[in-house]
Amino acid sequence: MHPETRMVHISAPVPDGSVPLSVPIYQTSSFAFDDPELIADGLHHPDRAYAYSRFANPTVRALENAVADLEGGAAAIATSSGMGAITMLLNGLLGTGDHVIAQRDVYGGTHAQLQDLANRFGVQVTRIGGHDPEELRAALTPRTRVLYLETVANPTGHVSDLPALAPIARAAGVLTVVDNTFATPIFCRPIEHGADVVVHSATKFLGGHSDVTGGLAVFTDRARYEKLWEHAVEFGATADPFAAWLTIRGLHTLALRMERHAANVARVAGWLAGHPAVAAVRWPGDPAHLSHAVAAGFVSGFPGAFCFDLAGGHDAGVRLMSRLRVIRAAASLGSTGSLILHPASTTHRQLTPEQLQESHLSPGTIRIAIGIEHPDDLVADLEQALDVVVR
Ligand SMILES: *Cc1c(COP(=O)(O)O)cnc(C)c1O
Repeated sequence: MHPETRMVHISAPVPDGSVPLSVPIYQTSSFAFDDPELIADGLHHPDRAYAYSRFANPTVRALENAVADLEGGAAAIATSSGMGAITMLLNGLLGTGDHVIAQRDVYGGTHAQLQDLANRFGVQVTRIGGHDPEELRAALTPRTRVLYLETVANPTGHVSDLPALAPIARAAGVLTVVDNTFATPIFCRPIEHGADVVVHSATKFLGGHSDVTGGLAVFTDRARYEKLWEHAVEFGATADPFAAWLTIRGLHTLALRMERHAANVARVAGWLAGHPAVAAVRWPGDPAHLSHAVAAGFVSGFPGAFCFDLAGGHDAGVRLMSRLRVIRAAASLGSTGSLILHPASTTHRQLTPEQLQESHLSPGTIRIAIGIEHPDDLVADLEQALDVVVR
């Protein structure tokens, strides 16, 4: 054959019996077959063959299987972002006129997606507090399809009473979907407490290094997974093999990182609570937090982002942010490095004080996500910055 042809037909030699220790990155959009029957199989069933990477890919499948296993589910679908998983799922499960019951404090993107489904397809949405089983019973209608909760809400730390609510939903034929981004399967496995589907932003703790955007939906029921897989293939928010590989690499150290995140968060939250510049710390690990007792039965750690309020209001927030040296201003969480945001001067700048209050924020609210650095360095950084705020 000519060089022009040989150049485009390169493949890796894989000797029999030599198994790579890390999952190879199958960075291919498509797969070639000697047997045409197999192409049809791969395009119509998630498990029969790899035909086209929007449908299935071996690197992506390795991630899906790993997270399904960690969560105690039957199968998973990996997506290009957490919102990719949530939007794929809600669009796949809901039709015109269907009803969703959602916990009041959900991730902003999820809130916007539910609003969008309501505006465009007449999906009815009822918001509940999530602590009271009677409130859920009263909200159920014959059109209710989904109960949507977050294990630990972003960033209020609100915890709905999943073990009490899920059986009520199941008895009514309603699917319980839980966003487990904040707890991760290290601190809570929602399926063990009645969830039917678990979603993740893998961008946060699962990936864990601020280098990948990804998401997952994990299913307890194989038939439901296969149905949603067909929808996911149409939806097209597919995970890229390299992104899946980075997430798998992150998973190797998930348990170690979570342990350190949790210990650091407890240390910093406790220290902040005793500082004169701080009016309140809102962290569910604190026994005074509204959700602490509810969480006690099924969530064993709270390493996600939390909020604290500066007594000095807006100006104190701006001054604190300008003095920090180790903790960096950025909107995310679950990374090795600590991140901080002052919503009133950044993400929520356009809001009036009344609107801020509706979002559980004050002009002096700070949102912080603690990394895995040495805790002394985090406390020292906050201390030197808060010094100026007090003076
Ligand atoms: C970040 C986040 C999402 C959205 O995930 P992306 O990967 O940014 O799309 C969903 N839920 C929670 C709780 C989050 O923190």
